[in-house]
Amino acid sequence: MAYDSNNVFAKILRGEIPCKKLFEDDFALAFHDIHPKAPIHVLVIPKGPYVSYDDFIQNAEANEIVGLERAILKAVQDTGAATNGYRLISNSGANAHQEVPHYHVHVLGGRALGAMLGQEG
Ligand code: AMP
Repeated sequence: MAYDSNNVFAKILRGEIPCKKLFEDDFALAFHDIHPKAPIHVLVIPKGPYVSYDDFIQNAEANEIVGLERAILKAVQDTGAATNGYRLISNSGANAHQEVPHYHVHVLGGRALGAMLGQEG
C-alpha cells in the first residue's frame, strides 16, 4: 500500500493540525490519542512516511527503528504506564481495523486493560 501523505498523522507531523504533544525528537512524535481508551493512551509515530509495522521494519533505516523503539520506552516511562503495567498495540491493515495509514504504536495503561483481544470478532 502506498503512503498517503494526506493522512491525519502526516498533517500532525507537518503542523497542519494540532495534537496534545507528549514529546518529539528527530525520529518520533508522541501525543495523546484524541479518543482515549484508557487513562493513559498515547500514540508514538515515526517521522518518516511508513504505512504499517511491516513497511517500517522493511524500509526504515536502523537508526529510525531504534529511535522509535526508544521513543516508545520514553512514552511508557514518562506517562507512568510502567508503574502498574501497560499494553503496546499496533494495528496494521484491514483485519486489525487500522484507521490511520501512518505506522503508530498505542501505549495504553492506567487501569486493568482486560482481555487482549476484547469481546469483538
Ligand atoms: P488505529 O485504529 O490503530 O489506526 O488507531 C488510530 C487512532 O488514532 C485512534 O485511536 C484515534 O482515536 C486516533 N486519532 C485519530 N485522529 C487523531 C488526532 N487528530 N489526534 C490524536 N489521535 C487521533
